[in-house]
Amino acid sequence: MAGTRFAYVRNFELPDPLLPDTYIVLRIDGHSFHRQFSEEHELAKPNDVRALKLMDEAASSVMEMFTDITLAFGESDEFSFLFKKSTNVYNRRNAKILTTVVSQFTSSYVFNWAKHFPGVSLKYPPSFDGRIVLYPTEKVVRDYFSWRQADTHINNLYNTAFWALVQEGKQTTTQAHEALRGTNSAQKNQLLFERFGINYNDVPERMRKGSVIVREEARDLPLSVASFVDGCGGDKVVKEEDTLEVKDKGKGRKRASTRVTVLHCDLIRDEFWDERPYILS
Ligand code: ATP
Ligand code: ATP
Ligand code: MG
Ligand code: MG
Ligand code: MG
Ligand code: MG
Ligand code: MG
Repeated sequence: MAGTRFAYVRNFELPDPLLPDTYIVLRIDGHSFHRQFSEEHELAKPNDVRALKLMDEAASSVMEMFTDITLAFGESDEFSFLFKKSTNVYNRRNAKILTTVVSQFTSSYVFNWAKHFPGVSLKYPPSFDGRIVLYPTEKVVRDYFSWRQADTHINNLYNTAFWALVQEGKQTTTQAHEALRGTNSAQKNQLLFERFGINYNDVPERMRKGSVIVREEARDLPLSVASFVDGCGGDKVVKEEDTLEVKDKGKGRKRASTRVTVLHCDLIRDEFWDERPYILS
């Protein structure tokens, strides 16, 4: 095969290695979810929990496939994945990693659709885009994830106020946009409380914090107990996966149980990282 006169075409394929010893952050985002996907599937506003859980499940399947991913964070139609900086997965080939993750995420999203949207048909095949960014230091990785979670908060506060004005305040979307123009967080909180009796802090953590997916060690506890060991800085742990995997440790084949766990907690504070040094190791 390699000896044919056609084989030279292979030389046009250029290598695309990712810089060694740097953190790989891969972010995927749904294509045209605002106007098209969420409207055609009549997603609840501001947050359709079915869609969020489906995103979590697709992201979990990516983490099960790529064990060098130590953290994922999701909100809305996007998910970010962090690979440990020493990973040599696919020899750190950019396109190979990016396309495989985006493809696995997308097919898992479609594969699990009916489980999360019983009785709702998927109207067309959804797609996701993806990009890889390399980050050199722990600080900038933490700032990246803080940036995404701050975005979750800002968007969700805005959307909660916006949809309260539309759904309960009977305003048009144009009027609601106008009412919120130039308001700060305190003013949106106040509006929600005074006009609609909504205490923003009572909005579920899933909406306010997004989804944080980690690979927890089961610590030899029974499955049902282990998932509640770690409080994620005092927040309630929501366990949705109980995948066990067997890892090779040294020569003897030791059984170290880990599982992919979905949390809805703060990752901006030091506590989250202090409790999980393996994420940045
Ligand atoms: P692009 O193709 O450029 O990403 P987009 O239409 O997907 O465009 P985004 O900025 O990614 O735009 O915004 C995603 C939008 O999808 C949100 O603004 C929201 O309208 C909708 N959406 C995503 N997830 C949900 C959900 N769980 N419930 C309701 N709406 C959602
Ligand atoms: P990688 O993940 O690196 O792509 P791979 O196992 O997919 O590894 P490829 O080099 O892509 O390896 O080879 C694809 C292989 O899939 C073929 O060699 C063949 O064995 C199998 N295959 C693909 N399509 C068919 C088919 N229609 N019928 C039978 N076998 C197939
Ligand atoms: Mg986009
Ligand atoms: Mg999108
Ligand atoms: Mg988006
Ligand atoms: Mg092939
Ligand atoms: Mg192949």
